[in-house]
Amino acid sequence: MIRAELLEILCCPACVGGGGGLLVFYRESWLLCRDCGRKYPVRDGIPVMLVEEGERWRAVEPEDLPVPPPEH
Ligand SMILES: [Zn+2]
Repeated sequence: MIRAELLEILCCPACVGGGGGLLVFYRESWLLCRDCGRKYPVRDGIPVMLVEEGERWRAVEPEDLPVPPPEH
């Protein structure tokens, strides 16, 4: 599990500069950016907050995201 305090400080790295980037925790395995649609995997409880990683899943519908996220 991710601690609530940690989630509160996490923002999408692609959007945070514009004051946005609020993330939605999805199915215990993904963080979805409401502003740009990038999706960041949470692997072993550790959010992978890399823009290129979020970009990789951007076009994938939330319900189609693999749970748990793939290792690579
Ligand atoms: Zn974003």
